[in-house]
Amino acid sequence: MKKKDNLKVKEDYLQKIKLIKKYNKYYYSESKPLVDDSTYDKIKNEILNLEKKYSFLKSNESPSLSVGFKPSKNFEKVDHKVPMLSLGNAFDRNDLFNFEKKILNFLSLKKNQKIEYSAEPKIDGISASLLYRDGIFVQGLSRGDGIQGEDITENLRTIRDIPTKLNGNDFPSEIDIRGEVFINNFEFENLKNKFANPRNAASGSLRQKDPMETKKIPLNFIAYTFGYSKKLNVRTQSDFLKKLKLWGFKTNKLNKIISGIDNLINNHKKIEAQRKEINFDLDGLVYKVNDLNLQKRLGYAASAPRWAIAHKFSANKSISEILKIEIQVGRTGALTPVAKIKPINIGGVLVSNATLHNEDEIERKDIREGDIVTVERAGDVIPHVVSVDKKKRAINSKKFFFPKICPSCGSSTVKEFNITTKKFDAVRRCKNDSFDCEKIAIEKLKHFVSKDAFNIEGLGKKIVESFWKLKLIKNPSDIFKLNYEKISNLDGWGKLSAANLKYSIDMKKKIPLDKFIYSLGIRHIGQENAKLISKNLKYPNNFFNLSNKNNFEDLLNIDGIGDTQINSLKNFFANKSSLLVLEQLKNILEIIPEKKKSSFGSLSDLTFMFTGKLEGISRAEAKSLIENNSGKIISNVNKKLDFLVIGEKPTSRKVSEAKNLKIKVITQRELIDMINSKGV
Ligand code: NAD
Repeated sequence: MKKKDNLKVKEDYLQKIKLIKKYNKYYYSESKPLVDDSTYDKIKNEILNLEKKYSFLKSNESPSLSVGFKPSKNFEKVDHKVPMLSLGNAFDRNDLFNFEKKILNFLSLKKNQKIEYSAEPKIDGISASLLYRDGIFVQGLSRGDGIQGEDITENLRTIRDIPTKLNGNDFPSEIDIRGEVFINNFEFENLKNKFANPRNAASGSLRQKDPMETKKIPLNFIAYTFGYSKKLNVRTQSDFLKKLKLWGFKTNKLNKIISGIDNLINNHKKIEAQRKEINFDLDGLVYKVNDLNLQKRLGYAASAPRWAIAHKFSANKSISEILKIEIQVGRTGALTPVAKIKPINIGGVLVSNATLHNEDEIERKDIREGDIVTVERAGDVIPHVVSVDKKKRAINSKKFFFPKICPSCGSSTVKEFNITTKKFDAVRRCKNDSFDCEKIAIEKLKHFVSKDAFNIEGLGKKIVESFWKLKLIKNPSDIFKLNYEKISNLDGWGKLSAANLKYSIDMKKKIPLDKFIYSLGIRHIGQENAKLISKNLKYPNNFFNLSNKNNFEDLLNIDGIGDTQINSLKNFFANKSSLLVLEQLKNILEIIPEKKKSSFGSLSDLTFMFTGKLEGISRAEAKSLIENNSGKIISNVNKKLDFLVIGEKPTSRKVSEAKNLKIKVITQRELIDMINSKGV
């Protein structure tokens, strides 16, 4: 390989290490991950693969050599007497087979030698090391970077599961007990807004500067191992777990002793299926060679022990139970069924909602409340129900009937017929697609303030919802007439935040026409179409007047606007509440007209129509060429037409009609010349 290529590989490698370091900082130190676990694991694997492939790649900060993140400055740093490392990962039978093979090789044991493992559920919390001298808890450390931890003794003292004094008297005079600090899933529900998952919540709560803050969060502790110990009289991990219980620690009820890969896999499957019933979050199982003497002989590789491995659960699928099927009503009236499931961690994110897509999907898969289902969450895609385990279905389970009326406003619903596909839509919609339907109105308000629309800073989705509940807003115009006195007295608000909100709302009273049209949330009128309409209508009044004229045909001439969009606009303008919203906004806002193109190089509002086949250019391209030069396309020969452009085999009727009306008939060449002399 050339030197230049090596440099490129190294650069790529160091870039990835830098990224991992940044992710580690946010995850371990700030308890606020920047990315989800699968994204993190992907980069980590890329680094490990690069190291395997190119022996010249090395960095002390590589995940192959390092653990966690350096201790925070908020706490005193203390060296671990025995490092607190990470665990190797296994995902399938092959990984487990290789793990055991390496152990047998290392210990020079026969291939068929049975190894006994302590199989322990892997709680997804954060580990802590508790130092007991003569049975008294004297110091508690976090893992930190594995070599040095943070002194969080006082915070750990607030956890009830951590005994201040050990029971009995058969404990070593000095021992550091290690285990997991974690939070129950139902407690996490209250912290959901602050943290991505229970692990981050546990870590964030435990590592508060002020122990009184930690005390407010109900943290738990389960013990599972020891680091440093003076004379300890136990021969196996399972015996040690028993001792822990006698000394007064909680241990995991699901710990087992297992040998044989098949038995490990069966237990893994069982616990994965049981996961939803467990109060706290598990992300797999840990297998530890049970014999402590063998553990000692096996020792440690760079960042993990050779005698243990974490057998992870799938990072993108999990099993859960549907507690309820809820029908959500979207901004454009679409009724979307959502399964409320028992919360389950999928790849580092606690999932409690999974989409069921639409009515047809429920029917096809016969999905019911109470069903045990497989839920998938991959990348940024919304978690969805993949399949139902019908064998686990209760005998009294009832078929789910999709509502035929809108659950929000009670209006009738439809499945529209799609002329292109000649099929009915899979999606059922509320026919009352307007501000009259409560749920639609809330979604429309969220859209109205969103980034690409009015982009009102400080008025996010959650605040829209809470203002709606407090009856502070109902229509978009209410946003500009908020009672800031009342807001400043609300929970979580003050005079300054209310004044900031007022400022950012007032700033947005001036808005370009295209953004205004888009913000109305009219179905099929996205940003692009709003721009096209704005360009064509130019002035706000032309848009408002669409309702009076009831003439939408002109818009049909816009390339990109078709019957679907026109019908949607007609529906919008036919609705009284939409008109009221428009009227109110018109009085409050300053809507900026579409900027007129400078007269230089423009077709200065001239109108054109084509007949016959054009040479070397499609109709669509010719249309956009004219529109880009401020010309307009119309579809009928009438007095408004300035030029009829004729291509090959023009319709003679259109040509004679144009001539009768004294409209100029020009060739394609003449049009191009006109654009070249005047156009942009
Ligand atoms: P780990 O959490 O996968 O495994 C090691 C930990 O398991 C130990 O420190 C201990 O706390 C815990 N554990 C639970 N039960 C145990 C038991 N019975 N015995 C022994 N240990 C037990 O390893 P890690 O290196 O701390 O973290 C890696 C994980 O964190 C990966 O899943 C990774 O995706 C995630 N991560 C994500 C980000 C991100 O930005 N999203 C960043 C860093 C790490």
